Amino acid sequence: MYFLLLQACYNSVVFQITQGTNAGFKNRVTFTMGIMSILKYPDPRLRQKALPVAAVNAKTRSLIEDMFETMWDANGIGLAATQVDVHERVIVMDLEGEQAAPRVYINPEIEILDATCLPYDEGCLSIPDTYETVERPGHVMITALDQDGAEFKEEAKGLLAVCIQHEIDHLEGKLFVDYLSSIKRQRIRKKLKKNRA
Ligand SMILES: [Zn+2]
Repeated sequence: MYFLLLQACYNSVVFQITQGTNAGFKNRVTFTMGIMSILKYPDPRLRQKALPVAAVNAKTRSLIEDMFETMWDANGIGLAATQVDVHERVIVMDLEGEQAAPRVYINPEIEILDATCLPYDEGCLSIPDTYETVERPGHVMITALDQDGAEFKEEAKGLLAVCIQHEIDHLEGKLFVDYLSSIKRQRIRKKLKKNRA
């Protein structure tokens, strides 16, 4: 999920930070995949339901590093493992677009604290150049595991609340276009097909 405004502000900063991170990471880990390819709508693999991570280990952390690399490279603020064709319940996020605030959620669950819905213009790295308004509850409690396998809770409002729901949807095989009318969805499908041709 990403937003035009954020994208414009953070491109250069993200690029520099990603370069630095890559160098350190490649020295540490030999089985790196680096930048992964992101599945694009309407790829049926985006509809697969992800399974819980049974044990958080070095392989999970390697996946997380690659997901960050992939997300930053694509100027995104959130990425679910489903989008890189790994069907495990892992999400990375960086709402500020700087490495100062990278977030990792493994096996995330949310509890809605306030069902009042907020409208947000959502985008998605799997649905390029498409932004539509979606309404979601604006205040939730997240429970998840961190990259060391420790459980944590985080109260989320506004963009973070919207983003975590968007990403958890990916793990369920759901996309933000599913909230739109079927006419709108078909129009987006056609546009993406035309752009790829
Ligand atoms: Zn998305």
